[in-house]
Amino acid sequence: ESVLSDALGKGAPFMQYQDNYRSLVTSSYLMLQEVQRAIVNDEFTIHLQPKVRLHDASVVGFEALVRWQQADGSYIPPDMFIPLAEASGLISELDRQVMLKTLDAINVLKASGYALPVAFNAAVADLESPDYVDNVFSAMSDRKVDAQLLDIEITESSAMRDYETHEASLRRLISKGVSVSIDDFGTGYSSLAHVARLAATTLKIDRSFVQGLETSDSDRHVVEMVARLGRSFGYSVVAEGVETDAQRRMLLDAGCHIGQGYFYARPMPLQIAIEWLKDQEVA
Ligand code: C2E
Ligand code: CA
Ligand code: CA
Ligand code: CA
Repeated sequence: ESVLSDALGKGAPFMQYQDNYRSLVTSSYLMLQEVQRAIVNDEFTIHLQPKVRLHDASVVGFEALVRWQQADGSYIPPDMFIPLAEASGLISELDRQVMLKTLDAINVLKASGYALPVAFNAAVADLESPDYVDNVFSAMSDRKVDAQLLDIEITESSAMRDYETHEASLRRLISKGVSVSIDDFGTGYSSLAHVARLAATTLKIDRSFVQGLETSDSDRHVVEMVARLGRSFGYSVVAEGVETDAQRRMLLDAGCHIGQGYFYARPMPLQIAIEWLKDQEVA
């Protein structure tokens, strides 16, 4: 008798699977209700993580990352609720709140003497909405934020999905002076032909390649290639997930000049970021 038929005979694996599946569905559904409630109650906040020049650590800007703090003070990681929000259509409203908070943060930073660009993340559903770019522009003019201080990060896989359609939106943003960063670059499937004429100002090399710099020749080659290619096509190139000084030096050797990661700072609340800036060089 095979193990399989034995197990099937008892029905055990199936029952177990069904139970796991049920609890997964139930917990996702509860989480989704919680996300919806949190949107209505305006519970999402942002933390800011600096982007710096790798040769002297001078600050060139920030990325805003959504945060969801619970009553007990803990945070639910974005990777747990962003995919759910994307799948359910709640992401557009969530990202809109994050965008508005980012614009407010840009103004507070500016009033504190730091006119630095701040990026926020856009999901594919955002770009797919025909009003998205107009909504960004009208929020910018409502809040009197200079386009030069705004940077939108969109993952390579989202940007490439239906690129023909997204290209027009991305070009509209860029023509107004907004930066467009292709996030997690290297993990999607941009063809060489696309890279040459991407509607983007910046390529953000995915953390996985930075993490592999010291141990993997292939990761190092990807970083070198993206840095060289990116620069030759006129993009600025940023490395994410810089955690060590060795990575910092290898990135510089590879021709990448800007980075972001725990080696410099973790994402932090706006007021902490302003305190932190007082001890930094600003580019
Ligand atoms: P991402 O855009 O690639 O953001 C970078 C993530 O890497 C952040 O995780 C950040 O905290 C983390 N990180 C930064 N430096 C380091 C480092 O040196 N080492 C390591 N191990 N991690 C580092 P976080 O905040 O958990 O965000 C996860 C993802 O959730 C983001 O990845 C982004 O794709 C998504 N996300 C975050 N905020 C938003 C948002 O407002 N809207 C949308 N649509 N997606 C968001
Ligand atoms: Ca990002
Ligand atoms: Ca990223
Ligand atoms: Ca990433």
